[in-house]
Amino acid sequence: MTTALYRHALCRLHDAGPGHPENSGRLDAIDSQLTQDGLLTLLTPCEPAVASRDQLARIHDSDYIDRIFSASPASGLLHLDGDTAMNPHSLQSALLAAGAVIDATDKVLNADIDNAFCCVRPPGHHAEYARAMGFCLFGSISAGAAHALAHHGLDRVAILDFDVHHGNGTESIFRSDSRVLFCSSFQHPFYPYTKLDNPPAHIVHTPLDAGSDSTVFRKAIERDWLPAVARHQPQMIFVSAGFDAHRDDPLGGLMLEDEDFSWVTRQIRLMADDFCNGRIVSSLEGGYDYDALGRCVSVHLGALLEMDSE
Ligand SMILES: [Zn+2]
Repeated sequence: MTTALYRHALCRLHDAGPGHPENSGRLDAIDSQLTQDGLLTLLTPCEPAVASRDQLARIHDSDYIDRIFSASPASGLLHLDGDTAMNPHSLQSALLAAGAVIDATDKVLNADIDNAFCCVRPPGHHAEYARAMGFCLFGSISAGAAHALAHHGLDRVAILDFDVHHGNGTESIFRSDSRVLFCSSFQHPFYPYTKLDNPPAHIVHTPLDAGSDSTVFRKAIERDWLPAVARHQPQMIFVSAGFDAHRDDPLGGLMLEDEDFSWVTRQIRLMADDFCNGRIVSSLEGGYDYDALGRCVSVHLGALLEMDSE
């Protein structure tokens, strides 16, 4: 397998203030674990370009994009909500994060690579059509999915999100676009407190009680995601890869183990093999315990590389 790893030095420079859990130490922890596990030599290194305005306008309100560009501070911090802030590098970081998913989409659909992981920040799945929230400015994974539809002419894609928080931003962007199957597993009730009433058939909610463990998680994914993906027959699969459902995570309240992230990635890979020639683009969302994050990204990449033996 050829698995691309997207990284960019500027993604380290976004900073939302002292003590913020979404910080560049996360990328350092991932890099050191991947080095320790000998994975960097097996991955194809890729550097993203920034997403264009037109690419963002497929998923965000035009006025919202203007507001974020004009809000970018020359110095200091600008707070967009209680936990989402921009420093002078945040705009560029967020454009690179979305640009990574878009470039990976091109490379996978052109068969230059088999699959990809975008190790970028800030995350994106809470950014709504016209609102920044939850550490997120632009919907990176949504930008990739929209690019696959608009630029490459695909008819059906799936976005699978196993972050501990519901991907409300992704849902807000594709709620009325049935070409995009969106499956999200998440602790419930929990931030961002999405209303779960009567979603359309292409929006699949998998709420999990606080304290849910491996068994509960795996059963729920098998019950909800596998049949939904089989029905949708996606031509490409996107992954919002958050690792904050790990039992060691300081923000989340689920009890997943390292092996669960290997398992869920393998399930996704098997579905991609069945329906879309193995085409997967995954992007980093949450995960705030440095050690657990590093290990879980490592097993996620191991499964994308087909090194897992489960
Ligand atoms: Zn999260």
